[in-house]
Amino acid sequence: MTKTLLIHNARVLVTMDDTRREIAEGAVFVRDNVIEQVGPSAELPQTADTVIDAAGQVVMPGLVNTHHHMYQSLTRVIPAAQDGELFNWLTNLYPIWANLDSEMVRVSTLTAMSELILSGCTTSSDHLYIYPNDCRLDDSIEAARQIGMRFHAARGSMSVGQSKGGLPPDRVVEEEGAILKDTQRLIETYHDAGRHAMQRIVVAPCSPFSVSRELMKESAALARSFGVSLHTHLAENANDIAYSREKFNMTPAEYAEDCGWVGHDVWHAHCVQLDDAGIDLFGRTGTGVAHCPCSNMRLASGIAPVGRMRAAGVPVGLGVDGCASNDAGHMLGEARQAMLLARVGFGPDAMTAREALEIATLGGARVLNRDDIGALKPGMSADIVAFRMDGIGFAGALHDPVAALVFCTPANVWTSIINGKVVVKDGQLQTVDLPLVIERHNALAGKLALATGTRKAA
Ligand SMILES: [Zn+2]
Repeated sequence: MTKTLLIHNARVLVTMDDTRREIAEGAVFVRDNVIEQVGPSAELPQTADTVIDAAGQVVMPGLVNTHHHMYQSLTRVIPAAQDGELFNWLTNLYPIWANLDSEMVRVSTLTAMSELILSGCTTSSDHLYIYPNDCRLDDSIEAARQIGMRFHAARGSMSVGQSKGGLPPDRVVEEEGAILKDTQRLIETYHDAGRHAMQRIVVAPCSPFSVSRELMKESAALARSFGVSLHTHLAENANDIAYSREKFNMTPAEYAEDCGWVGHDVWHAHCVQLDDAGIDLFGRTGTGVAHCPCSNMRLASGIAPVGRMRAAGVPVGLGVDGCASNDAGHMLGEARQAMLLARVGFGPDAMTAREALEIATLGGARVLNRDDIGALKPGMSADIVAFRMDGIGFAGALHDPVAALVFCTPANVWTSIINGKVVVKDGQLQTVDLPLVIERHNALAGKLALATGTRKAA
């Protein structure tokens, strides 16, 4: 028996289809986890097993987050890391993260995913690259299953500690053979290559300054032997470029190419300092970029040349990045900052509101190498979000409610449907008890801070 779902009467339905149609009084009809029909409400079926009235609301494809470190939700606004640039910031945080444990990973993932889902996100990647104590990526995957989020779990890693010239302390790095073995175990256990997959595994050494050239190359070989994607940090700021030049005598893009890290199955976070040759390379090879404007502003890394990247054919998606470098994990807020930051760097017409939404949906889907999410059209996964427009933040903006979503104060969803299931109803998460999650998260954040002396016992 199949189950049907209808969401109809939307003030505007944003399709992100091939002609970017916006349908007044729009509706979407879903069978099981797949969209079957999209159009004006009057032309679609009037009944279904579940019917959601979206009168007055904007309905759109769920947003796609392409870069995050969910465990960092435990270390927001750490005093010693509030005002530094990337390398200084990392050096202050590594000793705190060294005390992470399995429960902290699971609970912080629930917290980060709750925040993302409420902000309109239905698919997220998470880059977990530090595995002290009993931490495992399995804990993140279990949390994603519990909350019902579409998840690309990136098995990160660090292998070059301070004694070998890397940035992280030796006690938080792993041995390279063990990294590759665990990554293969995760792919074999969890990776779903099928259409509408809810969980995929990504091979993701942390950054050129925390793993060896050999691990970069072997990771690429492993990923390609299983047909999974590759992800890392690249060209984030001036120090990152200097490290690459000094250690490898190459730009970050040259190093990526040398290690086999270009192609439609690869995406790099940040690329703030990607040069013209790098942009051309990424465009030619379909190598993706996770643009993280809030994080880039907080760490003063610079302004990524998103317009030039897109003009060159580079797939660009949005990432909120971890909550230690963007203390707000709000996807619609990230789209807003992408639009505003592009204008600071490149002028008032550098990015429109609709382009920001396109990057946050279709752009993210392309970066994650998927053609089944990011748009509302027949055959796509049923990932649909709806925003009420009757709040104070949108008052006076209803002549263009779609642009209002990006220009006005970032709103939370009223409804979120992920893979055909209603995960947010009437603004409330249905799959977790959010106050309980927050309470446990705060207790664990306090324990982590206490363990490292960041906070004094009362
Ligand atoms: Zn990051």
